[in-house]
Amino acid sequence: MVEELQTYREELQAQNHELRQMREKLEASRDRYARLFDFAPIGYISFDRGGCIQEINLTAAGILNQERVGLIGKPFIPYVVKQDVKLFLNHLNRCKKETGKITTEISLTGFRKNVIAVELTTVAGADPEIYTECFQTAMIDISARKLAEAKLQEAYDELEKRVEERTCELKEAQEQLEKHAGQLMKSNLELEQFAYVASHDLKEPLRMIASYAELLEFSSKEKLEEEPRTFLKFIRSGAARAQQLVEELLEYAALGGRGKFQVVALEMVLKNALTALDLFIRETNAQVLCDPLPEVKGDPGQLAQLFQNLIANSLKYRQEAVKIRISVSRESNEWIFRVKDNGIGIDLQFADKIFKVFQRLHGKHEYEGTGIGLAICKKITELHGGRIWFNSKIGKGSTFYFSLPVVSDNPVFA
Ligand code: ADP
Repeated sequence: MVEELQTYREELQAQNHELRQMREKLEASRDRYARLFDFAPIGYISFDRGGCIQEINLTAAGILNQERVGLIGKPFIPYVVKQDVKLFLNHLNRCKKETGKITTEISLTGFRKNVIAVELTTVAGADPEIYTECFQTAMIDISARKLAEAKLQEAYDELEKRVEERTCELKEAQEQLEKHAGQLMKSNLELEQFAYVASHDLKEPLRMIASYAELLEFSSKEKLEEEPRTFLKFIRSGAARAQQLVEELLEYAALGGRGKFQVVALEMVLKNALTALDLFIRETNAQVLCDPLPEVKGDPGQLAQLFQNLIANSLKYRQEAVKIRISVSRESNEWIFRVKDNGIGIDLQFADKIFKVFQRLHGKHEYEGTGIGLAICKKITELHGGRIWFNSKIGKGSTFYFSLPVVSDNPVFA
């Protein structure tokens, strides 16, 4: 019996020892979790149903700027800014009724000088046994995020303000531009009318000078000395040139009155231009090569004139073995046409000059002409919504380019 009791006691002692070891292990584990709980980067608070703090980690106490011991059993509301108290109470109410994650943003002040924004997240209703009596809530300081958001909003507002201002400025500038364009169009029209009337009215007196000079020359053939007869010849040729200039000015001014545009097959237009130049081409023994051409929208007469003037110049300002090539390519929504020759070429320093009315690079004895051909070409391309320009090398030849808008998608040229 004594022996039995002895064994029993030893067993009890062993069990006791085991239990003590287990308790020590549990305490160590609890301490570990308590440290984790206290020093987590997120604040943790356990609220009772009335919103009093039951448990709080050191991080959360730090956010409230209070000693932890003084917080246990105290209500949370005094730390909430007045206008957010309703939000906090509503958060608690939702935790009582709903399930899942409930998140609310509120601002805290209480015993600290500055206001800070926090995000409260409570997992509600996950385990009724635990969560109906208290709510485990994570609390994160989101002041920095809020500040960044406010700054971003400020920058966005500033940007919007600037965009609005800039839009206003642009609108004003556009209105000014439209006004100027209107004025310019009006004055252009007036100038065109003036040029037309002036050149029209000049025609008659010039015709009279030319015919009376001719009459005088023939009627007093024998009576006049050599010198006055030469003077009369000068008067006649001067009047003839003035008549030619007036005619061309009239033609230039008349271009302004744009007729109704139609779809034009440029192949046909070019054919007409080449027919008009047939004699000149044969005289100069020129080789003219043409690419297939597209259809565009425009005035067929004016477009024929455009090709004719450019090809005529290539023939006029030629060198030996005249070779002219007309080609086209598409660049997005524009056709780019090229009239390329192997003529005398143009000094690029006169690039601006040659498209102006009556501006020439050669005397009339060197090459015939009045200097209006390219001005007409420029006006025609612009009336058709295009541009004209050139490239050249003296002694090697010139390429004149002009663009016209694409009207329809033609796969052959796409
Ligand atoms: P015009 O031929 O009557 O002088 P244009 O306006 O057609 O008038 O041409 C203006 C000037 O541009 C010409 O005087 C000429 O010097 C130069 N030019 C035009 N086309 C060519 C060309 N293909 N090759 C060389 N020079 C040219």
